[in-house]
Amino acid sequence: MHHMTLAEIARGLADKKFSSEELTQVLLARIAQLDPQLNSFISLTQELALSQAKAADARRANGETGALLGAPIAHKDLFCTQGIRTSCGSKMLDNFKAPYDATVVAKLAAAGTVTLGKTNMDEFAMGSANESSYYGAVKNPWNLEHVPGGSSGGSAAAVAARLLPAATATDTGGSIRQPAAFTNLTGLKPTYGRVSRWGMIAYASSLDQGGPLARTAEDCAILLQGMAGFDPNDSTSIDEPVPDYSASLNGSLQGLRIGVPKEYFSAGLDPRIAELVHNSVKELEKLGAVIKEISLPNMQHAIPAYYVIAPAEASSNLSRFDGVRFGYRCENPENLIDLYKRSRGEGFGAEVQRRIMVGAYALSAGYYDAYYLKAQKIRRLVKNDFMAAFNEVDIILGPTTPNPAWKLGAKNSDPVAEYLEDVYTITANLAGLPGLSMPAGFVDGLPVGVQLLAPYFQEGRLLNVAHQYQLNTDWHTRTPTGF
Ligand code: GLN
Repeated sequence: MHHMTLAEIARGLADKKFSSEELTQVLLARIAQLDPQLNSFISLTQELALSQAKAADARRANGETGALLGAPIAHKDLFCTQGIRTSCGSKMLDNFKAPYDATVVAKLAAAGTVTLGKTNMDEFAMGSANESSYYGAVKNPWNLEHVPGGSSGGSAAAVAARLLPAATATDTGGSIRQPAAFTNLTGLKPTYGRVSRWGMIAYASSLDQGGPLARTAEDCAILLQGMAGFDPNDSTSIDEPVPDYSASLNGSLQGLRIGVPKEYFSAGLDPRIAELVHNSVKELEKLGAVIKEISLPNMQHAIPAYYVIAPAEASSNLSRFDGVRFGYRCENPENLIDLYKRSRGEGFGAEVQRRIMVGAYALSAGYYDAYYLKAQKIRRLVKNDFMAAFNEVDIILGPTTPNPAWKLGAKNSDPVAEYLEDVYTITANLAGLPGLSMPAGFVDGLPVGVQLLAPYFQEGRLLNVAHQYQLNTDWHTRTPTGF
């Protein structure tokens, strides 16, 4: 039962082959048995799951239908869930029970999903390895000595290990696509403004975007359908009609223009990944796509710009966690300054503190023009590169990551080495564009992803290309041994 995709579950529930309650029991037992190896959950919500499953079964018995009605999922632990701990992977919020549901959580619950739990993540979504969580590192089910990617590593590991069919995640600089690549999943970062950020604890507000992690493009379409849409509570939400994503899957790729940026194949890319990317290009050519070499000349500036903008916004967003308004409070403070200092010093981990310091520095008087303003100008150049490219092509294709998943601990002493691994994903966040990673092969037994980028609001096009690719390849069906 645990091998079923969301689409298969929807058919099974509609055909009354099993109930949501039965499926939920099976998955909860599987999580209890297997998750101790992975550490992919911060909280389990068994009681909520069983009551939601029963309610979904009752709704079906009353004639209601819907692809998500009774579908078991989990939420990355930065989506607020009413009455349930929402930790953001941090000691700072270890005892925080959200007083309300995030819009994404509420929308999915209304569609009938069953919440199995809250998934592990890098602290405040900062990281590419899921090693910065207060609740410990997450392991990659493909090799338990390797990282699952981050910051949505818990969602990715749990779905890859078949503990559940799909999960929510967020992507500020790659945190949906990179863990998808590292664990053989399909992950979609929507256009900025497509999915509400209300109740999604902010890391870098101008970059953060929620989206689905699942095994197939078909399942990403189903989950995205439940997440997307205008939200008046989010001032950056865009009032744009939500298309039927499942209906977009079956378009022909005949004549589709795919751009492959030459800058993607620089020295930093593992040549074995380059070869798998070229194989995926050939596969899409067979399906009728036309390949064109393009250029994104400002790509080299994207990492330094991102690692100024994201920490700057983070330093501002995280100022609310001061032990007074929000978050952990230290024991026996001597005075107010001591309370602030120790609450933040004890509540935040090392990587979060590093970013707050970098961000506060970049925003400080005298440095603002040199760093933050400069980074914003680069951001515009990166966006302009994409706009020029999309005048010539419909989709941009390349590797999701320069390397496969590294060993746990391998980059702990060198944060910049970890930042450099985001080279292919962060540009989409700087520009606000939608991006998808799909399974495209293996290197040393570890999964490799191919990334597709599309113009604003063309999530359906990304899902269409990935689905057609998945109808003709079987990488996405491979299962990690032991799971
Ligand atoms: N690795 C990037 C960072 O640490 C992206 C993280 C994310 O997308 N949340 O900022």
